[in-house]
Amino acid sequence: MKTIAIFLVVAIAVYVFFGCVTYPQWKDYERLVHAGSKTRGRVIAKERENHQNVRYEYSVESKIYSGRSRVGVGGLPPFSQVMIGDEIPITYWPGRPSVSLPGDPAEVFSSWSTVLFGVLPFFSLIAGGSVALQSHRLSSKRTKMNPQENIFSAQWAEYRRLRKTYWKMLLYCFLLILIPIGIGRLGLLKCGLHINLSILICIVVIIGGSLFFYLRAWFRLLRWPCPRCRKPFAFSWFKGGWPTNTCKHCGIDIERPVPGM
Ligand SMILES: [Zn+2]
Repeated sequence: MKTIAIFLVVAIAVYVFFGCVTYPQWKDYERLVHAGSKTRGRVIAKERENHQNVRYEYSVESKIYSGRSRVGVGGLPPFSQVMIGDEIPITYWPGRPSVSLPGDPAEVFSSWSTVLFGVLPFFSLIAGGSVALQSHRLSSKRTKMNPQENIFSAQWAEYRRLRKTYWKMLLYCFLLILIPIGIGRLGLLKCGLHINLSILICIVVIIGGSLFFYLRAWFRLLRWPCPRCRKPFAFSWFKGGWPTNTCKHCGIDIERPVPGM
């Protein structure tokens, strides 16, 4: 029962976290597909270095808008065949005319739908399953442990190792979360399908992976049983989960010698 709860909480948390990154972009494309208007635009620049994007301009109610996107999808010719000055079909969202894509947006929309409703749920379930499995293993290990062991130095070494891993993972996670925030700030997420997808997949893999390892390290630390009282050493509901040198339940100190029992 507890394992299922852990599984659900972790899977939902991971999905919500990454869903928040994906959803706004998906929503824009959804609007383009279901409420988009067509117009004609013109290619104003080719950016071979920038993932072979083209920049284009179009006007809506005599206001000029511009956009940047990959070509070769949505019925558009490949990059090599598109020339500056070419007229291309544009789909924009009348509710916010700056949201646009050249060509037919259906293909882009379906790729993003696959990410949001296929790749991401799958990844979230795997993350939830791994954490739940890990926690299940730890709790069965705890019940098997012999409480009569009176020399705890091996256990203290294990606790220190878990604590060190936890701090390391926390630091990595923090650093890695800064990367997509930086990317988002630079506006690179607006560049078009292939950049968006590749950035997104990188975010999912890198952040997801580090989040998973962080959660795993955290769980291991919180669930680590005190060798004397067998309750979670680093965690109690009243004293919180800060990993100190003393047991949150019986007060045994890892720095002090433990007399034999
Ligand atoms: Zn204890």
